[in-house]
Amino acid sequence: MRQILVAGNWKLNGSLDSVKQLVSGILGGVDDTGNTAIAVCPPFVYIPLVSNLLVGSKVKLGSQDVSDQESGAFTGEISGPMLKDFSCSYAIVGHSERRALYAENDEFTARKFAAARSCGLIPILCVGETLEEREAGITEQVVARQLDAVIELEGIAAIGDAVLAYEPVWAIGTGKTATPQQAQDVHAFIRGKLAGLDQAVADKVQILYGGSVKGSNAAELFAMSDIDGGLIGGASLQADDFLAICMAGN
Ligand code: PEP
Repeated sequence: MRQILVAGNWKLNGSLDSVKQLVSGILGGVDDTGNTAIAVCPPFVYIPLVSNLLVGSKVKLGSQDVSDQESGAFTGEISGPMLKDFSCSYAIVGHSERRALYAENDEFTARKFAAARSCGLIPILCVGETLEEREAGITEQVVARQLDAVIELEGIAAIGDAVLAYEPVWAIGTGKTATPQQAQDVHAFIRGKLAGLDQAVADKVQILYGGSVKGSNAAELFAMSDIDGGLIGGASLQADDFLAICMAGN
């Protein structure tokens, strides 16, 4: 039985005051979240602050991105070892906003995945199709291609050390959630594809769903057999909304 994981992606949001308030709100309700594993992914600059605030709690810390490089002349980059210095456990890689707005392709994403893993961060690898791709009937092809880039570089066993997040691009920040069955179908496809390469990896890996998850729809999504939690954008910015999703994992 895989543990439910709920990870909040705060994106480019927050201020010193709002971040303190948000963390304090989450910590105030965390005792009611049972066995659900929880992580928050603040903007880089707030990671040291959030890292301190989370000490002693069950809430883990993640980054929204990570450099494919470890150190050197790479202006503006943040490396995996730097994130480890602040007790990060997770690093999101290949979020659709990085892919679409910053032209990060499958190979580059795979290198970020490798960089995260090599310093002991758990990559949260995002995959998912656009509306156009769904309507063209190529959802599975797109998701398979995104996964294959990582498997080719790192091998199938590496997927067992990671978390996957299926995030249909058309459902991110749009209020249009995939139905539980639509999400389950793609999750089952992903798990089946992995099982064809390594059954143990397929059984072990947590596959999160992301795309307009809210307190009101989380329980039915998380009840699907291949959905192991959620990657949450908008609803992770309010402690009560985020906690309601965490509680839906019980
Ligand atoms: C996300 O950005 O990963 C996401 C799922 O966003 P939202 O929950 O706002 O759709």
